Amino acid sequence: MSSIPLVNLKTMHDELRSEIDSAIGKVIDGNGFCLGPAVESFEQAFADYCGVKHCIGVGSGLDALTLMLKGSGIGSGDEVITQGNTFVATALAIQHAGATPVLVDHDRDTYNLDPRRLSQAITSRTKAILPVHLYGQPADMDAIHIIAQEHGLLVLEDAAQAHGAMYKGRRCGSLAGAAAFSFYPGKNLGALGDGGAIVTDDDELADWARTARNYGSRVKYQHTLRGYNTRLDAIQAAVLSVKLKRLDEWNRTRRARAALYDDLLSSIGVHIPIVLKNVEPVYHLYVIQCPERDGVLKSLQERGIGAGIHYPRSILSQPAFAKGCIVPQPLTHSDKSCHEILSLPLCPYITEEQVLEVAESIRSLVGERATP
Ligand SMILES: *Cc1c(COP(=O)(O)O)cnc(C)c1O
Repeated sequence: MSSIPLVNLKTMHDELRSEIDSAIGKVIDGNGFCLGPAVESFEQAFADYCGVKHCIGVGSGLDALTLMLKGSGIGSGDEVITQGNTFVATALAIQHAGATPVLVDHDRDTYNLDPRRLSQAITSRTKAILPVHLYGQPADMDAIHIIAQEHGLLVLEDAAQAHGAMYKGRRCGSLAGAAAFSFYPGKNLGALGDGGAIVTDDDELADWARTARNYGSRVKYQHTLRGYNTRLDAIQAAVLSVKLKRLDEWNRTRRARAALYDDLLSSIGVHIPIVLKNVEPVYHLYVIQCPERDGVLKSLQERGIGAGIHYPRSILSQPAFAKGCIVPQPLTHSDKSCHEILSLPLCPYITEEQVLEVAESIRSLVGERATP
């Protein structure tokens, strides 16, 4: 029986093991565990990679989102528009900043925030739009910026699934006022534990976030604001520096394997991902839509194929968010697609043979189910 994980971290880490061990060893020898040179050098490298001035490493993607929002002046009484089909962290960060999430439906083709739904969601309290580059495909940023400019709103990116993705030749992370990344292990750039970062060209936001992540202090025992303890761990930063050098190559492999899935699955009539012109996605997830999804998922899992659902419920249907969100219009696509979407195994270490095997399983399952 085969076993194809959704994300194969084991092979990745086996391959990088000696480099990672020596990077961790250097941090231990250098005695700098909280901030210090390992964090600074990763921050510089990741800012350069994204094409922005500043990177501020923090403890998680959720904290990156929350500090990015607070540091951009968003707080109590404000509304922030995002999409209903994202991971809960996006909405949670808006609430942790003290503001109210306004959830709009996604575009059926791309799963990203549908700019055509923004105008109806904007009120006098709206402060910002927070698009998510879901599954690693950049959001329709030009259309979002046009509406934001008309209404004087900030645009901030949730880039937690889009390390290295390009929109019109520019990297996600450089497409708005600021962006938040997650380095959760399974992300395209993942640590060996939690981590996150804010990237921005905005000097003031960068300075605030650097202070806020470290107890509100830039100079030891001088506390200029009520901060948090959410620093990017130095050992994680050292690991991320090793992995960052591989990111482009890994993303290329993800695109190649996704293209193979596209070929194999479209010929059997499965709904494959639709990619906008002018973008280069990084396939954090490869998401198809199929009828009888739950049965297909169960059969795949029985065959040892690690498929998943991202996400099985819209944010609104989560007890923690049932109250406290504004939903100007029904989330028709979100409500429907969460019953049909299916994430197939995809990572830089999945082989072509494994992609063939997954596609063949889907073919037999969808075929079987199509004939009564
Ligand atoms: C992973 C993720 C986050 C949160 O990141 P953590 O590091 O797990 O806190 C936020 N938004 C999206 C879209 C994500 O996929």
